Amino acid sequence: MNDMILLKQGEIVLKGQNRRFFEAKLVANIKRRLNPLGDFDVYTAQSTVYVEPKNDGCDMDSALEAMQMVFGVVGVTRALACEKDKDAIFEAAKKYLAEDMRTAKSFKVETKRSDKHFPMSSIEISQYIGGLLSEEFPDIKVDVHDPELVVHVEVREKAAYVHANPLPGAGGMPVGCNGSAVTLLSGGIDSPVSSYMIARRGIHLVPVHFFSFPYTSEQAKSKVLELTKILTGYCGRLTVEIVPFTHIQEEIRANCPEEYFTLLMRRFMMRISEKIAEQNGCKALVTGENLGQVASQTMEALRVTEECISLPVLRPLIGMDKADIVKIARKINTFETSILPYEDCCTVFTPRHPRTKPKLEDVLIAESVLDVDSLVEEALKGIERVRFDI
Ligand code: ATP
Ligand code: MG
Repeated sequence: MNDMILLKQGEIVLKGQNRRFFEAKLVANIKRRLNPLGDFDVYTAQSTVYVEPKNDGCDMDSALEAMQMVFGVVGVTRALACEKDKDAIFEAAKKYLAEDMRTAKSFKVETKRSDKHFPMSSIEISQYIGGLLSEEFPDIKVDVHDPELVVHVEVREKAAYVHANPLPGAGGMPVGCNGSAVTLLSGGIDSPVSSYMIARRGIHLVPVHFFSFPYTSEQAKSKVLELTKILTGYCGRLTVEIVPFTHIQEEIRANCPEEYFTLLMRRFMMRISEKIAEQNGCKALVTGENLGQVASQTMEALRVTEECISLPVLRPLIGMDKADIVKIARKINTFETSILPYEDCCTVFTPRHPRTKPKLEDVLIAESVLDVDSLVEEALKGIERVRFDI
């Protein structure tokens, strides 16, 4: 069978002059994902990406699943290619969609004809194929207004295609077409979701995790690696930077007032992340912060947190309700891993009475006893990198 996959491009079709650039990124991202699944031909025409297996060794089920996770695609459909002839099209529809035609109660045929040399109009093709399908499957009714099943026929340059039941794509824009950002990835529920949301806007991510061994366990690190692996399904390629954070936390705890522990820690996270951003050509930082969720996420605390850096901090979850964040976490399959009960470095050193409305001057005084630059330098030297690829 000439089974293939058609992908409908999302908003990049609106890109005018830059469209070729976006399309090239999308095709490159698609090819990389298909690499382990067999030998495929990938090409674009008229806002559609065609994924054609070159031989029988291709894993079409896995390819269909992988294509649903590619940003920049809004619809994914398995289709059958056939000769551009009205009876060949009918035979293809009859064979390929037999099961759908037997189980659905009503259907209609919708035709797109981009090959203007084809001797029938779109409406004529729909009527012809619909008529023959009705005779072949007498239990299903024609309903042109609200059919359960829409049989799509497309007559294009190279061939005709028959398909039905499009699956939703991941939406967004192709990863890499809008630059890179560092994402601060804890083991919690929020930061995998914020990472996903920014990657979906076409951003290549560099995940950074602050690790406080032995206050947090090896399992906490494995959890972050597992979350990165899940995100790789969407992002395509991720190298997570594990930053040793223990010494910084111990210095803060030994020398600074307890009420500022979290804020001082977060300022270090920002500084180190900014350095990693510089090293990787990243133009912003991403966090899972959310207004009012905890003491360090009031407007005053956010101001103190980002005062020590100059890159913009993207906080896609800032105004969302927790329930909505959880919904996305479930959808992208990070939730179950995020709720595994391993301590995060923030929870280990949480002050009993954190400042919710900190004054910057007071925080700067609290911080002034630390040798900030050398602590940052030391942390950067100890970074461990773990690469994930698909
Ligand atoms: P999350 O569920 O993402 O952990 P949270 O609501 O628990 O978020 P915090 O622990 O205050 O909030 O962290 C706020 C943000 O700071 C996180 O969303 C994440 O972006 C970043 N962050 C916190 N801890 C770490 C860590 N150990 N490594 C990397 N980033 C972190
Ligand atoms: Mg957390």
